[in-house]
Amino acid sequence: MSNVAVRVTADALRQVRHGSPWVYDGSIVSAKPDGAEPGALAVIFDGDRKFAAIGLWDPDSPIRVKVLHHGKPVTIDAAFWRSTLSTALDRRSGLVADGDTTAYRLVHGENDGLPGFVADRYDRTVVVKLYTAAWFPHLDAIVAELVALTGVDRVVLRAARSVAGDRDGTVLHGPSLDGPVRFRERGLVMEADVATGQKTGHFLDQRDNRTLVRGIAAGRDVLDVFASTGGFALAAAAGGAASVHLVDLAAPALDTARRNLAHNPRAIAGTDTRFTVGDAFEVIERLAAAGERYDLVVVDPPSFAQNQASVDRAVRAYARLTHLALGVLAPGGTLVQCSCSSRVTTDQFFDTVHHAARVAHRPLNEVRRTGHAVDHPIGFEFGGYLKALFATA
Ligand code: SAH
Repeated sequence: MSNVAVRVTADALRQVRHGSPWVYDGSIVSAKPDGAEPGALAVIFDGDRKFAAIGLWDPDSPIRVKVLHHGKPVTIDAAFWRSTLSTALDRRSGLVADGDTTAYRLVHGENDGLPGFVADRYDRTVVVKLYTAAWFPHLDAIVAELVALTGVDRVVLRAARSVAGDRDGTVLHGPSLDGPVRFRERGLVMEADVATGQKTGHFLDQRDNRTLVRGIAAGRDVLDVFASTGGFALAAAAGGAASVHLVDLAAPALDTARRNLAHNPRAIAGTDTRFTVGDAFEVIERLAAAGERYDLVVVDPPSFAQNQASVDRAVRAYARLTHLALGVLAPGGTLVQCSCSSRVTTDQFFDTVHHAARVAHRPLNEVRRTGHAVDHPIGFEFGGYLKALFATA
């Protein structure tokens, strides 16, 4: 596959030199030859025809070049993948995997220098999630290095149908899957459906927030809205919650949640469990009307803003959720509200939640603001996405 020689605008060049992993199609001045395949190596030259950066050519994406490296010329080969992966693994060593936690993010895309490439480890299995088809020409090479560095038994591929065709959920290395993969999160046994579950099977980024919830759950009635596979509910139960009520639209996710709770009989002993499949907005409204009240309400919705145009709608949805959650929050209870929309800024999100609470005449007393766990480092301007507010009302 031949390389593409790329010239970009002065502004884009400056951004790449400052570490931006993205070059948009509108910033491309010229690209030769025409019609390069996805994943061809794109070499970005400066005005003096000197090497400035190298990345993956992505003709089907508005982010036309995913930058792998800038500065001195390098060759993209096995040694490059090995060194980039090693840097990512070293960054996490000792931070997350402590025997009590066997699932964590090894590679966080752009933030670890590998745009659109995510690798999550679940014990002896690694799930590689691709957000662009530009990775396919390099997949075997990088996976070989990943296996060599981690020594894992199995690598599973995940990617949207538009990216991977029918390869989503297939095994790239090691034995075939015979069901969900087991792992431990802070000592709790959980499973992930790595072949078909959401994201890579488990939302690893909320690990630290779940631990905080575990610490404040004792004796409380907990509502886990957008519960998915039950990470928050299980943590709350392990922390001694009187009851946990899980709400999610996806029945398969709640089935996994049910099993996750069952995997930890000692942790959930003494906690009543309840599951509701349905639209969160409607379910909370129904619960409020029925007079149900909870001491701790966790609201962790999916990203509402997939693009800049939908930010206003997302902000309105957050405000609505604050309003609804306060309707079922007992006086003095704790609200944990999260946002994983990277396009909604930190200030925008926290201001929105506070404003909605004031409008509902339940002003919030902030306990703390948090983000994602340490295995999700922020490596560039748009690398931070998860925001969580812990507050009492
Ligand atoms: N709290 C979870 C992660 C939540 S991800 C954890 O800690 O693992 C967002 C979840 O919201 C997904 O499971 C998705 O199925 C669910 N969801 C999306 N739209 C929904 C809606 N309108 N009502 C209820 N659940 C919804």
